[in-house]
Amino acid sequence: MTHYQVNHYINGELHQSVQPRYADIYNPALGSVQGQVALGTTQDVDMAVAAASKAFPSWSNTPALSRARVLMAYLNLLQQHTDEFANLLTQEHGKTLADAKGEVARGIEVVEFAIGIPQLLKGEYSEQIARGIDACSMRQPLGVVAGITPFNFPVMVPMWMFPIAIACGNTFVLKPSERDPSASLLHAKLLKQAGLPDGVFNVVQGDKTVVDALLDHPEVQAISFVGSTPIAQAIYARGCANGKRVQALGGAKNHMVVMPDADLDMAVDALMGAAYGSAGERCMAISVAVAVGSAADALVDAMAARVKSLKINNGLAPDAEMGPVITHAAKERIESLIGEGVTEGAKLVVDGRNFTVPGHEEGFFCGGSLFDHVTPEMTVYKQEIFGPVLCVVRVPDMAAAADLINKHEYGNGVAVFTRDGGTAREFVRMIQVGMVGVNVPLPVPMAFHSFGGWKRSLFGDHHIYGPEGVRFYTRVKAVMQRWPDSISKGAEFSFPQNK
Ligand code: NAD
Repeated sequence: MTHYQVNHYINGELHQSVQPRYADIYNPALGSVQGQVALGTTQDVDMAVAAASKAFPSWSNTPALSRARVLMAYLNLLQQHTDEFANLLTQEHGKTLADAKGEVARGIEVVEFAIGIPQLLKGEYSEQIARGIDACSMRQPLGVVAGITPFNFPVMVPMWMFPIAIACGNTFVLKPSERDPSASLLHAKLLKQAGLPDGVFNVVQGDKTVVDALLDHPEVQAISFVGSTPIAQAIYARGCANGKRVQALGGAKNHMVVMPDADLDMAVDALMGAAYGSAGERCMAISVAVAVGSAADALVDAMAARVKSLKINNGLAPDAEMGPVITHAAKERIESLIGEGVTEGAKLVVDGRNFTVPGHEEGFFCGGSLFDHVTPEMTVYKQEIFGPVLCVVRVPDMAAAADLINKHEYGNGVAVFTRDGGTAREFVRMIQVGMVGVNVPLPVPMAFHSFGGWKRSLFGDHHIYGPEGVRFYTRVKAVMQRWPDSISKGAEFSFPQNK
């Protein structure tokens, strides 16, 4: 790949900052710099928001069906360019090509949902709520809205936001992760090719400077954020203080409970994919296996053998099961947390530290790690490691498993593996987590449901995409109407009431 530069996209054109700053873009499998991304300024944000504001009246007045038709054309283009997206993903993020294609497919599903926007925006109508008066409520777009997205799903997570936002009639400014920014420009190119008017979708690359400028800009009506919890919380606080609508999705520590009656092979397969897929860099990754009673020894033995034989390689290699982590700093952080786990007394059954892939010695690879006998006060239990490290916590029964999970600060995803319907039902009812899988390790809701965690995994009132996404990107207007012949009865001085 030749060295490249990733810039902003404003009002339908690539845009360069007046006084540009740049950050390096790495190929994590090679550990080398492959390009540079511009880090935008407050002026770039002002330009993008001005373009989006200018585009809003015309776009919001475009009939919903016409907006949906633009998304239909975009959907066709996405399908044609899936391989291009997946290649970009693997080269900037590091995940395997098969995983990258899965990410694109899950993003495409949100566009398919958003194409149904004429149906989704339908309001409510009540006739004759008083004599001669009818009432209705309608959903209208907010205006300019912004999305700030993490490195781990650079194609899909922006697509949790902008297809629905623009289908609802808003205009959009995206601030992608500076680690893997190229997909944002491919989205921009395809949206333009699909017929999206200039200014409806804009991209400002960058870091905190751009995020703060978006949070403080008076014309930005709403912020969707996905990333780590400390940043999510700060963004929620600042965005709300500025009077904006904010949904800020944060980090996670997802548990998978394995009951003694679970199908062990099924549970082990599920854990392997959910803990080590994408090198554990998924907000829905399972990072804690809660082994109940007699399930523990067999589970740990089976997992240890599988973790040792994980196929770790450049994500472009056809047989790779797991690629590198995102940066050298991430590798160091993960390895240092593993060290803390050992110091705090957890049993390191498989040690993935100091791992290298032959031919890729500079790549940011971690081997798979497996801890047993982890306890709730240990750092490896409390913190989101965001790497290929699975912690096994042993508990005596289901009640103890649920208690453990309910006390964790995060509540994004959770799974239970059992053959017992009663156990599963009870678990689903009492668990304090936003997304629950029963014999399903990664319960990521489909595009026509909505995605969101509880507790410190989400700040705000709305989950993301699906029907909740439509609610987030619209506001309700209630209308009461009476036509002139009924007004002729004269003025009323008492508070309106039904007669
Ligand atoms: P991050 O919080 O470091 O960055 C997310 C975004 O915020 C990026 O665009 C980044 O440029 C920006 N940012 C970083 N520091 C900032 C600051 N100080 N002020 C303002 N903006 C800042 O997250 P990441 O490392 O890119 O992504 C991994 C995290 O995202 C994990 O914690 C993961 O669990 C979480 N995540 C959550 C979900 C979810 O749905 N809940 C989905 C994907 C990822």
